[in-house]
Amino acid sequence: MILLNNQFVSRDEGKVDIEDRGYQFGDGVYEVIRVYNGKLFSLAEHLERFKRSMVAISLKLPYASETLTDNLKTLVEKNNLRNGIIYIQITRGAASRNHGFPNNTTPVISAYTKEISRPIEALNSGISAHLVEDFRWLRCDIKSLNLLGNVLAKQEALDHGCQEAIFHRGERVTEGSSTNVFIIRAGKLLTHPADNFILNGITRRYVIELACQLGLPVIEKSFTLNELLTADEVFVTSTTQEVMPVVKINQSTIAEGRVGKWTQLLQNAFESAITSP
Ligand code: PMP
Repeated sequence: MILLNNQFVSRDEGKVDIEDRGYQFGDGVYEVIRVYNGKLFSLAEHLERFKRSMVAISLKLPYASETLTDNLKTLVEKNNLRNGIIYIQITRGAASRNHGFPNNTTPVISAYTKEISRPIEALNSGISAHLVEDFRWLRCDIKSLNLLGNVLAKQEALDHGCQEAIFHRGERVTEGSSTNVFIIRAGKLLTHPADNFILNGITRRYVIELACQLGLPVIEKSFTLNELLTADEVFVTSTTQEVMPVVKINQSTIAEGRVGKWTQLLQNAFESAITSP
């Protein structure tokens, strides 16, 4: 089953108009929520960010947010999802194609679930990343459906045999194509501040809290390409990638190609959090 507006229908039954503004303009926002053991992880934080993204593009939920929360939980139950994700998006709806906001359209909400497992192998061995100039717009804090910049960067990384693209604006490292980037230098954790240049990841915030609990000082400050390439440890975070070690960036090997000590501690803390009842 999928959720379409306020109804549960089969995927075949779920129809969206060809002039939906999400389809034509990417005029909408989305969230990806992790489900561990049948439970939605950090649901409140995801819904809070979803609302923030909606406000940023002047969209309003067409029903109460409590209804949306109930609908998402029901969707997980209906689909017997144990481990996977919920994808949810809202668009400005269907209207005759014109750039300006149409009058009187109803936003279209759609959500579906997908089973996925944790990327255990990569979490143990780390991934390689490829550097890409950040050619995206200046509102990366909005979780917008417009992902073309991210898509092109990720493909460039894949074409270079890497699993993630790390964006930089000139010398300054921003974030990954679908992750936030962290480095460890001299016993401190550094990550780009949550401004308009990055998406403030739910996993990013979670990891910052875990680091504080572990006594690892956190500095939310941007760092340079050189600081990235000569860091003691590098990892990226996201809802599906969790705390993912980066062991190679372009031609530079990081942490002798192994999962670093702090990265491992943060991975352990994260794993405890998602497996606790
Ligand atoms: N940055 C970008 C550009 C992303 O697409 C994502 C994943 N949605 C993230 C960061 C990580 O966010 P989260 O931890 O909320 O999944």
